Amino acid sequence: MKLAGRISQVKPSLTLAIAAKAKAMKADGIDVCSFSAGEPDFDTPAHIKAAAAKALDEGKTKYGPAAGEPKLREAIAHKLKSNNGLDYQAENVIVTNGGKHSLFNLMLALIEPGDEVIIPAPYWLSYPEMVTLAGGKAVIVPTDASTGYKITPERLRQVITPKTKLFILNSPSNPTGMVYSPEAIKAIAQVIVDADILVVSDEIYEKILYDGATHVSIGSLGSEIFQRTIISNGFAKAYSMTGWRVGYLAGPADLIKATISIQSHSTSNVCTFAQYGAIAALESSQDCVEEMRQAFAKRRQVMLARLNAISGLSCAKPDGAFYMFPDISQTGLKSMDFCNALLEEHQVAVIPGIAFAADNNIRLSYATDMATIEKGLDRLEKFVQSRL
Ligand code: GLU
Repeated sequence: MKLAGRISQVKPSLTLAIAAKAKAMKADGIDVCSFSAGEPDFDTPAHIKAAAAKALDEGKTKYGPAAGEPKLREAIAHKLKSNNGLDYQAENVIVTNGGKHSLFNLMLALIEPGDEVIIPAPYWLSYPEMVTLAGGKAVIVPTDASTGYKITPERLRQVITPKTKLFILNSPSNPTGMVYSPEAIKAIAQVIVDADILVVSDEIYEKILYDGATHVSIGSLGSEIFQRTIISNGFAKAYSMTGWRVGYLAGPADLIKATISIQSHSTSNVCTFAQYGAIAALESSQDCVEEMRQAFAKRRQVMLARLNAISGLSCAKPDGAFYMFPDISQTGLKSMDFCNALLEEHQVAVIPGIAFAADNNIRLSYATDMATIEKGLDRLEKFVQSRL
């Protein structure tokens, strides 16, 4: 069959593919240690599940507004104001099928053929593919460990052209776990305002911070940057709601209106009763978020120490999210070969850095239990020793 040309320009998501492979191996009875997809191992907190179950019982099973349940849009606007200092109303918010879908809606609403979107690498693997699917040009700007895998304001200024429409900011970052300092966010905001381009801030990991790191939402730094900011976020990571598929996009009302129009012709509303779970997530105690963060913090310490104790690997300390991004270059292996051999020979699933435009690295998610971390790191150590 002759498929649309755009299909030949994108690859399937490797994070999802490797996670699915690891799950299938487990289902076949193979003892796999999976550090693949960034998916918290905790169950969704009980009060969130209860709110969705109640909504289901009450018959909240019908079509709702494509933009999302009014009560949830309001709760999100309130959260953005109280947590992030962003002055949005419900009309500035669309509820989407996860954070990924909010970004996809954004690209469709914003990007025209020839528009350039600046993406610092290592990047989350779906960003460039979404830009390409929308007909835009992903402008990849490599960064490395010397700048903590962060784009500097100077470098950002250099790569902006008259065709630049959008800059993608992701802090805390997937895959590196790095967090931009408040000063760096301020300097980047100034570049965005001076160049009069837009920024989308992917804040899905905003709650998962360590060692006193802070999250500053770029749009909170003044009215000029606020007008040029779009926020993408969701419930998956902070509330362990990955399978629920509830996310959101917030920004200027005309842009949000455009995404609602797109959504009305594609997915319609997000699962109605799932949205009631999301309302409970925002309106109830946030202790569950902190409990999970503390568990991630312990795992982070163990995994970082174990990785850096393996001769042949080196890993920078991440300040947020739940990923480690060790350098594997001393093994002489390309990241895909490394990951394939590791899975084949030792049944450990990790994501090759090539998926994030960083072939000298691999990504491990530590959103998994301590026993798996200990066992998987034993195996990883044996594997690396066998290759040195
Ligand atoms: N965002 C998570 C990850 O990077 C989940 C998988 C995906 O959507 O890519 O692992």
